[in-house]
Amino acid sequence: MEAKQDSSTPISRGILKSNQTQVLTRLGNMFAPDVGLPKIADVGEFNYCSSCGTCEAICPVNAPVVRRGPVDVSKEKNNYRKMELKTEVLFQGVNPLKTEVNPCVQCYACERVCPILDGFPVDEFNNIRHMKAGKSKTLHGQDGAVVSQILKSLLEQGEIDCAVGIVRNDKWSTKIFTFTKPEDVVKASGTKYTYQPAVATMRDIHRAYVDSAESPLISPDGVMREESRTYIEPIKNILKKYKKVALVGVPCQVHGASLFRENFNRIELIIGLICMESFSEEIMFSEVIPKIMGVDIRDVVKMNFHKGKFIVETTKETKEVPIKDVAPMARHGCHFCQDYTSYYADISVGSVGSDDGWSTIFVRTEKGEQYLNKVKDIEYSDKPIFLDIVKKLAAMKHKNNKWDWRGFMKEIWSRDIPPRPWGRERLERIPPPEVEKVEKTEKGDKAEKAAKPAQPKE
Ligand SMILES: Cc1cc2nc3c(=O)[nH]c(=O)nc-3n(C[C@H](O)[C@H](O)[C@H](O)COP(=O)(O)OP(=O)(O)OC[C@H]3O[C@@H](n4cnc5c(N)ncnc54)[C@H](O)[C@@H]3O)c2cc1C
Ligand code: SF4
Ligand code: SF4
Ligand code: SF4
Repeated sequence: MEAKQDSSTPISRGILKSNQTQVLTRLGNMFAPDVGLPKIADVGEFNYCSSCGTCEAICPVNAPVVRRGPVDVSKEKNNYRKMELKTEVLFQGVNPLKTEVNPCVQCYACERVCPILDGFPVDEFNNIRHMKAGKSKTLHGQDGAVVSQILKSLLEQGEIDCAVGIVRNDKWSTKIFTFTKPEDVVKASGTKYTYQPAVATMRDIHRAYVDSAESPLISPDGVMREESRTYIEPIKNILKKYKKVALVGVPCQVHGASLFRENFNRIELIIGLICMESFSEEIMFSEVIPKIMGVDIRDVVKMNFHKGKFIVETTKETKEVPIKDVAPMARHGCHFCQDYTSYYADISVGSVGSDDGWSTIFVRTEKGEQYLNKVKDIEYSDKPIFLDIVKKLAAMKHKNNKWDWRGFMKEIWSRDIPPRPWGRERLERIPPPEVEKVEKTEKGDKAEKAAKPAQPKE
């Protein structure tokens, strides 16, 4: 769905005051407009959505759908395959029981799991229990193949029964894949800098679990049945086994997955990647690779962001450009993201902070520690993690992506009359702004002061 974009609605950082009547009209007026759409509508409307797919996973009727198909960027300039909310007007004359997707029924479950509505960590580094550099003794990956090794080893030992990852083909088109065999894990190794709504996969896993209770269900043809729904039957038998899922994702997905886990305990382990930004396939394949890097995507064997450069290795050559040449083309949602190191993961993994060929590992929860201790075939380095560089890059991301999240929250949660109880709670729990180090350059002295939230833009 195209966000409103005209001269009065800047798309840069900072919040927009939403005109709720306009939002309702554009998204499809509900039968109970005074109650209001879930707040994920605002998240999508103003391009703050990260496309993580968590709302899609939890929604009982499939109303929020992260766009999977290609976007014609000449017509929908600001759509980066974000969440689109389906509402009543789209279904006029349609029997909702015959559709996979249904209009929102305002249960507000999605408001509990959206990472943007939940907010960003105030201090990204305050939950690290241990940090070390490691590499797999047997596998090759983007860096030290630590992610692949963790998944492989835990699958081999039966500690997890399924892992969610991203695979690619020779044209770098990606898809979400669920692995059950240890030897298959390497199929997902290597970083793809494009995006998939990985958490939406939990929808299938969770539904299969509910269906296994064999309660009477309404089938897509509208008939009440005693047996389970037939249309998910082909996957149901496999998904029945998925009780201990490991999910790998970038910080926004990890955050959504951790909120989902609070509601449905099917995710056993969350492995987070460090992430500065990602790109839509449209931009990656039509602009970044052919025009900026000047190579054919089919020749590309590896992409990497390293030491200020975007580097593309092909079968013939290695090409690099300064990151500033490609970063502005990242997906819109990424320009509002304030988590660099996957704060909400059990274990975070990245490349920055350790030597080439090694992975930086942050263990953040007790569960992460227990699982990492069980992993075999990882060699650990004696060299400490160079945390200063990680902190510097996190601070850079926070600064570049600064926006008035608190103002956005105040606006959307105060709008309803009466306000939703959990909205009031959210407002009361808004964390204080991150404390920033500000350099007074003229006098050369340094001062620490609290960052002032930007004022909402009219
Ligand atoms: C979009 C993106 C941006 C990143 N930016 C940084 C950065 O700025 N600094 C930094 O230090 N590290 C960054 N990383 C992490 C880094 O590139 C490696 O993924 C990480 O170090 C793990 O390496 P590995 O060798 O252990 O992983 P491997 O063993 O090679 O396994 C890679 C794992 O990543 C998963 N994966 C690959 N692409 C995606 C994707 N698009 N979305 C979700 N999961 C995916 C695969 O499913 C697989 O499980 C980024 C990763 C991504 C996906
Ligand atoms: S409010 Fe409920 S029905 Fe509507 S999109 Fe959110 S989860 Fe789905
Ligand atoms: S849950 Fe994820 S996909 Fe849904 S609106 Fe929030 S950020 Fe977007
Ligand atoms: S910067 Fe990374 S974590 Fe943040 S929204 Fe983009 S892909 Fe997600």
